Amino acid sequence: MSTKLNWIDEELENLKDSGLYNKIRTLGSPQGAWLVVDGKRVLNFCSNNYLGLANHPHLVQAAKEAMDKFGVGPGAVRTIAGTMDIHLELEKRMAKFKRVEDAITFQSGFTANLGTIPALVGKGDMIFSDELNHASIIDGSRLSGATITRYEHANPSSLETVIRQNEGNYRRGLVITDGVFSMDGDFPPLDKLVQIAKDHNLMLMVDDAHGEGVLGEGGRGIVDHFKLHNQVDVEVGTFSKAFGVMGGVVAGNAKIIEWLRQRGRPFLFSSAVTVPDVAATIASVDLLEESTELVDKLWSNADIFKNEMKKLGFDTGKTMTPITPVMLGDAKLAREFSRRLYEEGVFAMALGFPTVPRGLARIRVMISATHSEDDLDQSLKAFAKVGKEFNVIS
Ligand SMILES: *Cc1c(COP(=O)(O)O)cnc(C)c1O
Repeated sequence: MSTKLNWIDEELENLKDSGLYNKIRTLGSPQGAWLVVDGKRVLNFCSNNYLGLANHPHLVQAAKEAMDKFGVGPGAVRTIAGTMDIHLELEKRMAKFKRVEDAITFQSGFTANLGTIPALVGKGDMIFSDELNHASIIDGSRLSGATITRYEHANPSSLETVIRQNEGNYRRGLVITDGVFSMDGDFPPLDKLVQIAKDHNLMLMVDDAHGEGVLGEGGRGIVDHFKLHNQVDVEVGTFSKAFGVMGGVVAGNAKIIEWLRQRGRPFLFSSAVTVPDVAATIASVDLLEESTELVDKLWSNADIFKNEMKKLGFDTGKTMTPITPVMLGDAKLAREFSRRLYEEGVFAMALGFPTVPRGLARIRVMISATHSEDDLDQSLKAFAKVGKEFNVIS
């Protein structure tokens, strides 16, 4: 028998031995406040379905109606014969929603980064990247061939320092940061980053995957939160989180969007987002523009949960958003804690190294507008019970 794939068995064993092997749970229900996970009904604190739109009747209806009119698949890449009028409508709607000049859609947030960064910088250029940026930013940056220089997380003076150290060493420069950082729920002082980018004539890109639908007026994102419209050159986003669907978006300066239509490789060489995805996303923009009710509910749920957790004696880290890390330190403790919560009917992920730094393991609680007060109550009781069992709180 051939042995050429034995290395995979060895690597998988290594992952299992070091506790890094991903066991993937299977859902038997739509996304919502409650889930059926591996056959068990549990309260859901794991998904990015911030506003409950992933199973919203308006979105489902819009997808059905669009499929009756346009079918399912786009049939081609956008530049050949895959652009339908709904694709253009979604882009127009997103530019308006984000209060910027123009927008282009991609198949996902991940591909939006893979398409955008290499279109903006290449060999001889430099990327200034927050040290905690998302994997898709890291991959897009590597793909670009530009030199990657990291600065300390959310730290403008560190950014300023590395820019000065590299003065004269590159052709074009691009500063990239996540909007909301998904492991801690914090966000950078974007106004200061804008100023620094301006002072040094650098392009500035924000990946607001966790900020859209959450921050800013009616969920318009981090740029709206800081009132920096048209000062951040380019915003990457996703329709897979608060918007409840699937797809990526890049919004901002019209010149950059026009350039991406010519040079964004996943736009040019991978087919368009499907009809039901596009129609459902337009319906989610409708909902967000009609009312701030869902976004308000998300924040009031988050405030209730975070305040009660603090009263119980838990450390919720440096969160500034509905993402609530419950800091436990030890990775094994975090895993055991998560397992006990699950037994108590609460599904919340444990995160340890290498997803977060060593010694900073945690349970990450993703609050949603779909949680009722009873749901929050029940989860707080479970946290209190398990927290006492493990002597995390007294
Ligand atoms: C989730 C996420 C992505 C990927 O978005 P998808 O649409 O799921 O591919 C990209 N960037 C950041 C910062 C994210 O949090």
